[in-house]
Amino acid sequence: MDLLRIGVVGCGAIGREHINRITNKLSGGKVVAVSDLYVEGAHKVGDPIGATVYSNSADLVHDPDVDAIVCTTPGFAHQETLMQALEAGKPIFCEKPLTTSAEESLEIVEAEMAGGKRLIQVGFMRRYDKGYMQIKEMIDSGAFGAPLYLRCTHWNPTVDNGYTTEMAVHDTAIHEIDVIHWLVGDDYESARVIMPKQTQNKNPELKDPQLMYITCKSGIVAAIEVFVNCHFGYEINCQIVCEEGVIDLPKPAMPSYRKAGGQTTPIEQSWKNRFTHAYDRELQEWINSTRKGEVNGPNAWDGLIANVTADALVRAQTNGGQEEPIQVGPRPDFYK
Ligand code: NAP
Repeated sequence: MDLLRIGVVGCGAIGREHINRITNKLSGGKVVAVSDLYVEGAHKVGDPIGATVYSNSADLVHDPDVDAIVCTTPGFAHQETLMQALEAGKPIFCEKPLTTSAEESLEIVEAEMAGGKRLIQVGFMRRYDKGYMQIKEMIDSGAFGAPLYLRCTHWNPTVDNGYTTEMAVHDTAIHEIDVIHWLVGDDYESARVIMPKQTQNKNPELKDPQLMYITCKSGIVAAIEVFVNCHFGYEINCQIVCEEGVIDLPKPAMPSYRKAGGQTTPIEQSWKNRFTHAYDRELQEWINSTRKGEVNGPNAWDGLIANVTADALVRAQTNGGQEEPIQVGPRPDFYK
């Protein structure tokens, strides 16, 4: 295949980022079509690059000039485009989460398996971040012994008013949910959520911060702190305590400076900057493997695991701190 001709559904924040990186940074792909419910927004990004502009995803997916799809609509709209892509037999890179419920994710998995060919990659880009790749290599080396527990933090400076308590799981912690089982190579068993004292800097309905705990089948416990109105910046931490040592996710290099009697190390303010290289690597590898007719990244089964786990955490948000079971069947050979 020459250039992979890509159609992007959803021209919002990350849609525009991905269109820009495919057009100006990556190789082997070209954005030939875009769609958005807000069609003027689609024109704004599509017209300068000569892309065909659609107002709905079905027309874009069925455009014969589109070889593959990138889906960057909000999570609740993913299922529709995923189903359209599966029906058309076209590969699709779908931003996380795969869908916003385990039931929907299962329907996607069943539809993909019925089609007999893997077509879906989910945008769990942490697996492409250099720091996460390094710490996975260290765990897998065995030099640190077995992982025992993890401490993860997901801090955001602020969120908009539409952000809900459930989104702290489905949109935010979903990254940790995916990356933790990938890092430690274990399946999840149960989930628990504790709500500590709440910040005043939020809308009254939102629970923030939240402390989430996931227990793996071998007994590994992962603590995930989500605090999305922390005000100081965007910071992701992950510490893995093992039998023979402790491994920390490296922080992105930021120059520290001395000024006015103090020493300062700035903190990133946005996810866009923190994971730029991971997004680049993730989409470049997706383009490369799609051109070869393969899906090598996180697949729909990984999306399902994340959603079953997320649903358990959402139930645990309101059950007074009790354990909620996480039940996912064994990974089918189709997804190994
Ligand atoms: P956003 O800014 O709200 O953009 C979504 C766009 O999709 C909006 O322009 C929206 O139009 C449009 N849209 C909604 N339904 C559509 C449909 N059925 N067909 C076509 N367009 C539709 O959201 P975002 O922040 O870019 O997030 C998009 C997705 O990326 C989400 O799943 C999010 O979780 C994910 N994301 C991932 C990361 C990451 O780190 N991997 C980071 C950010 C976002 P209207 O505004 O008119 O509804």
